[in-house]
Amino acid sequence: MLLVPCPNCGPRNAADLTYRGESHPRPDPGTATKHEWRTYLYLRDNPSGWLRESWYCSSGCRTHFQIERHTLTGEIRTPPLPGSKTAGGT
Ligand SMILES: [Zn+2]
Repeated sequence: MLLVPCPNCGPRNAADLTYRGESHPRPDPGTATKHEWRTYLYLRDNPSGWLRESWYCSSGCRTHFQIERHTLTGEIRTPPLPGSKTAGGT
């Protein structure tokens, strides 16, 4: 069982949430090429290590949130919020 920390509900069984996939920045609609859209929509890295993922708390607070999960160990950490300064973490 994978416990995923919802920012509002706390740790929840992954079966109670909806996995939204690997999280990566959306290209600029005004300047993106077809190749950039194709890469954004269909290609995934599938790394052996830390991966930023999007989840949806579908049976709880209905919040979209992101976590970082190590694909080999299953360790989970919360990524810093956009615009926040980290205290020297990796
Ligand atoms: Zn929640």
